[in-house]
Amino acid sequence: MINSNEIFKKAVIEKYAIPQFNITNLEWIKYILEKCEELKSPVILGASEGAIKYMGGYNVVYSIVNAMIKDLNIRIPVVLHLDHGTSVDSCKKAIDAGFTSVMIDSSKNILEENIRITKEVVEYALKRNVSIEAEVGSIGGIEDNISANIRYADVNECIKFVEETGVTSLAPALGTVHGFYKGELNIDFERMKKIKESVKVPLVLHGGTGVNDYLIKESVNIGISKINIDTELKSAWNEAVRNFIGVNKTEYDPRKIISSGEEAIKNVIDKKINLFGSKNKA
Ligand SMILES: [Zn+2]
Repeated sequence: MINSNEIFKKAVIEKYAIPQFNITNLEWIKYILEKCEELKSPVILGASEGAIKYMGGYNVVYSIVNAMIKDLNIRIPVVLHLDHGTSVDSCKKAIDAGFTSVMIDSSKNILEENIRITKEVVEYALKRNVSIEAEVGSIGGIEDNISANIRYADVNECIKFVEETGVTSLAPALGTVHGFYKGELNIDFERMKKIKESVKVPLVLHGGTGVNDYLIKESVNIGISKINIDTELKSAWNEAVRNFIGVNKTEYDPRKIISSGEEAIKNVIDKKINLFGSKNKA
């Protein structure tokens, strides 16, 4: 496993986006690694604090990913990334366990406080060769309406934030939200362009689920270097598994039930990698 800095360099120069697929369990990790290996795409495995807790802890997640890479003979670059770390402590735990990248999300705080907390993570991470992503503005959440919840990133705040913290990538709030869209999606491309021109670090787009392909392409053209996909994998899996159970009412083997969603997950991955342009970039 490597940090995200190396794969970002090539992505920025060649103008494609690295996919971050969020992991939920052992099967997710396996399907994502297999499909990305097949397509020769570098990949960032995103693990939220909730997913880490579900799987047993930071060390468990690191160990599964590390072992899977070995046993499946995965040769593409793989980054293990803490998604939306809510505290310095959480980021330190991930780093100590072997995660190669962390996101510290202190964006609910005012800028000065966001800078202070992020800096603390940066100092710890850089010494250990770990890349750091942070958020400016506020990307909406699953339970909220877009208009009620999003706070667009301010260009000057982004410049100040990157300079003062030393983060290695930035996720500015630009209009996308997490989960499914309930309201109208309004990505601020002008703001995206200005931020891209003003900061030197790679830009990340969260909330990629449900964003139209042409909007994703436009974002990649402007210079988004990483796009996060979580909900779309879960949703595709959910639909496939419900269909399978509906048809196979007597099936009780969890392996067959869980893996009935494998193809659906892999299809989403295939679609995203082709859209982001990261195929054959490993
Ligand atoms: Zn996010």
